[in-house]
Amino acid sequence: MNQPPAGRRNFDFNEPLLFEKINEGCFGVDLPEGEASHRIADDLVALALGNHARGEKETLSLSEHSEPEICRHFTRLSRWNFSIDTNSYPLGSCTMKYNPRINEWAGRLPGFSQLHPYLPEERLQGALSIMWDLQNSLSEIGGFSQTTLQPSAGAQGEFVGVMMIKAALKARGENRTKMLVPQSAHGTNPATAAFFGFEVVSLRSTPDGCIDLEDIKAKMNEDTAGIMITNPNTLGIFEKDIVTISHMIHDQGGFVYGDGANLNALMGMARPGDFGIDVMHFNLHKTFTTPHGGGGPGCGAVGAAQSLTPFLPVPLVAQKADGAFYFDNDRPLSIGKVRSFYGNFGMMVRAWTYIREMGPAGLKKASELAVLNANYIRARLKDHYHLAYQTDCLHEVVFTDKWQQEKNHVSTLDIAKRLIDHGMHPPTIYFPLVVSGALMIEPTETESKVQVDATCDAFIEVAAEAKSNPENLKSAPQNTALRRLDEAFAARNPVLKWTPEMPTSGEAFKKYAQLLNGRE
Ligand SMILES: *Cc1c(COP(=O)(O)O)cnc(C)c1O
Repeated sequence: MNQPPAGRRNFDFNEPLLFEKINEGCFGVDLPEGEASHRIADDLVALALGNHARGEKETLSLSEHSEPEICRHFTRLSRWNFSIDTNSYPLGSCTMKYNPRINEWAGRLPGFSQLHPYLPEERLQGALSIMWDLQNSLSEIGGFSQTTLQPSAGAQGEFVGVMMIKAALKARGENRTKMLVPQSAHGTNPATAAFFGFEVVSLRSTPDGCIDLEDIKAKMNEDTAGIMITNPNTLGIFEKDIVTISHMIHDQGGFVYGDGANLNALMGMARPGDFGIDVMHFNLHKTFTTPHGGGGPGCGAVGAAQSLTPFLPVPLVAQKADGAFYFDNDRPLSIGKVRSFYGNFGMMVRAWTYIREMGPAGLKKASELAVLNANYIRARLKDHYHLAYQTDCLHEVVFTDKWQQEKNHVSTLDIAKRLIDHGMHPPTIYFPLVVSGALMIEPTETESKVQVDATCDAFIEVAAEAKSNPENLKSAPQNTALRRLDEAFAARNPVLKWTPEMPTSGEAFKKYAQLLNGRE
C-alpha cells in the first residue's frame, strides 16, 4: 500500500516557505493604484508596529507575494493539518468528538465574544445568566451542589480541587501528608498531588482492570488526605466498587477527588456526586464540545459536593432575590481566585449551547452511543489485537501490541505510524502506563457506523500487514510530508525559527539543532 489512500491524494507536500519563493514586485494588499497605495501601506505598517516601525527610508526585507499566492500558500498548508473536521480522531482519554457548528456560531456572537470583563454587572446580565445556568447544569449532570467555571484546563481543575481538599483539612486542623492514586491514573493526578507536597501512594489494579480494594485497605489511614480516582478509569473500565471505595476513604476522614475529564460514558447515565465523589473536574474541551488539542483555550470546571462547596474559588455566579445575577465574592472559606477575570467565557457559551441543544435525553443518548461505538470496536478488533483486559469497556477500549511484538517484532509505535498512511489519526499510545504497548481507542458518539467500520478496517489491515510485510510498518508513515520523525530528539532540541543558513535535513540539521540548544 504505497499509493496514498484516497483521502490523502491531492495533497501538495512540496510547499516552500514564503521566504524561499523569490517573487519580486508583487504586492498583496487590495489598495488603490499608484503612490497613494504605498503611503497607505506604510501607514498601516506604522500603525501595526507602533513605535517599532522603521524609519521612512528603511524597507523591511520581506518576500513579496500577490494576495492569491498568499491565500493559496496558507490554504495548502492548512490542508496538512489533521483535524476532527477532516477525519476521525480516535485518540483515547481525549474525547475528540465533532463540535457542532452552532456552538461555534454562538461563541462568536459579538455580544459574547467582544464583552469586556470590566463591564459592570448590570451590563453583563446575559453573560452571567449563561454562567449561572451552566454552573447549575454541570452540577446537575455531575451530582454536585456547586460548580466553578474558572479553571482553564483539566490540570488546573485538579489543582483547584486538591487545593480545596487541603483547605478543608486545614479547617479541621489536620495536616495529612499522603494521597492515593491508582497506577492507571492520568499523569496530571500524581503531578497535582505532588505539587501540593503530598506523597503519592500508588494503588494496584486487579486482573479485571479495577482498583484493588485490599490495596486501599492496606494504604488508607488517618495520614492520607484521600484518593484521586477516574471512573470509568483510563482503561475504559467502570470502577464497579466506587461506592465502597468512597466509604472506605470517608470513614477515615479522607476526600474523594474525581477526575471527570472524560465524562462521555456517564452523562445522563450516572452521577459522580452520587458515587461519593467530593470534588471533580469536568473538561468542557473534551466532553462538552470545544475543539481542543494543540493547546487552545480550555475549561476545567470543578464541581463540589456539600462537603467542599465552601472552599470553591471566588467568584461564583449567584442570583439575588429580584432575579439579578452577580459575582459572589463573599465566601470566607474560599481558596480565593485562581484565574484572571472569570475563565474562558467563549467555552462556557459553547458548552451551554451544547447542553441546551442536546437536552437531558440527548446527553444520555450521546453516552449510550459512545459506549456502543467503543464496544463495537472492541468486538471487531479483539481477534486482531490483544485486549489488555477482558472486562467490557465503556467509552474507550485498550488493546496492546503483544501479538504483533511476539510474532513480528512490530511495536505499538509502528502500528500507530502505519495508521497515518490510512488517513487516520492514531489512537493514544503507550498510555495508560499499566498496560505495556497500549493502544487506546476512543471513537466518541459522533462517529457513524460507516466511519467506525472504516476505522476498524484500517486497524485490521495494519494487523494483517504486520504479518505479511512488517518492514512496511517500521518505515511508516510513507505517504506524508515528513516520514518517521525522531520525536525524542525533536523534543530535546526544538528548532522553532527558520533561518536562511539552516540545513534542512540529515546529520547537518541534527548538529545545527544541538548547537542551537547548547548541547554540543
Ligand atoms: C485530559 C485529561 C486530563 C487533563 O486535562 P487538560 O485539560 O489537558 O489539563 C486529566 N485527566 C484525564 C483523565 C484526562 O483525560
